[in-house]
Amino acid sequence: MFRAILIEKNADGYHAALRSLEPARLPDCDVRVRVEYSSLNYKDALAITGRGPVVRSFPMVPGIDLAGVVTESGHPDYRAGDRVVLNGWGVGESHWGGLAQMAAVRGDWLVPLPAAFTTRQAMAIGTAGYTAMLCVMALERHGISPASGDVVVTGASGGVGGVAVSLLSRLGYRVVAVTGRPEEESYLRSLGAAEIVDRDSLSHPGRPLERARWAGAVDVVGGQILASVCAAMQYRGVVTACGLAGGMAFPATVAPFILRGVTLVGVDSVMCPRAERVEAWRRLAQDLNPTELETMTQEIALSDVIPAARDLLEGRIRGRIVVAL
Ligand code: NDP
Repeated sequence: MFRAILIEKNADGYHAALRSLEPARLPDCDVRVRVEYSSLNYKDALAITGRGPVVRSFPMVPGIDLAGVVTESGHPDYRAGDRVVLNGWGVGESHWGGLAQMAAVRGDWLVPLPAAFTTRQAMAIGTAGYTAMLCVMALERHGISPASGDVVVTGASGGVGGVAVSLLSRLGYRVVAVTGRPEEESYLRSLGAAEIVDRDSLSHPGRPLERARWAGAVDVVGGQILASVCAAMQYRGVVTACGLAGGMAFPATVAPFILRGVTLVGVDSVMCPRAERVEAWRRLAQDLNPTELETMTQEIALSDVIPAARDLLEGRIRGRIVVAL
């Protein structure tokens, strides 16, 4: 038997609970993994609470990421004993995921864990941190460098935001952190933020073009904040948009795009091609400061996951949560 969070939807409603399950219930896949750590991401919190339409089939084990050790493999690239990490590909949405002591997954979805990381560190990074790296790589691909000017990061006290602040500052950027939690200023400065901006100052509709402040942006919030960020980009600035913590809407004008040549880059981690994933994990091993990663991280047990999911959606969690299996 193995322990897992199981989400069920039936006549009684939508329920998530900690359960003991038979290994025979795992999906039919070519690799089995003993999960050592998973993590709690925004999407997992939506799945567990049922507050967003994340889960595509029931019953579902949530958990969009995992790190662990291969126990059985029919895939040519993996053998028992290999340390692996998995992000996305619909795991925890349409395929049983990482918030479980065992997982059965497709070998093609796995990335070998970089030697620099323990499985715990890999999940302290998790999908949030890997997505932050994808955003940094997108800024670079579109020509942004520390010499271009300031980079703004929204939702900075959260998971994607914290890793983005830490990575960018280590790479030499001057980082402006946007937060709705002024009490986290010293935490954000410890990750390398040079300036803190109150979320409220970007939360209201403004002019189509504002004072040109930022060369680059990592936005996890969407909604009015993303629109305000776009309006305040410098000429030929680059905005990476990966999240919707503030909503799905995008109440913007085309002015920043047609008058300042701003680029809006969408970042998706779920179906991201394998070569880019491998590169993102290589870059994380090279560029992320492990001490800052630890500062961002708190560890919980599987039995704490359900209340923690509610806390995360209420904005009461700082940084990243790793789940020990
Ligand atoms: P967290 O909950 O850890 O962080 C989100 C942060 O956003 C919060 O800490 C808060 O930061 C800010 N925030 C929350 N609610 C609001 C609001 N109503 N208005 C403005 N700001 C708000 O989540 P993650 O970092 O794990 O994920 C962030 C977003 O990125 C989510 O929408 C998630 O779905 C998305 N995401 C997308 C991926 C992709 O592949 N595209 C992959 C990973 C995540 P503060 O208190 O500092 O203001």
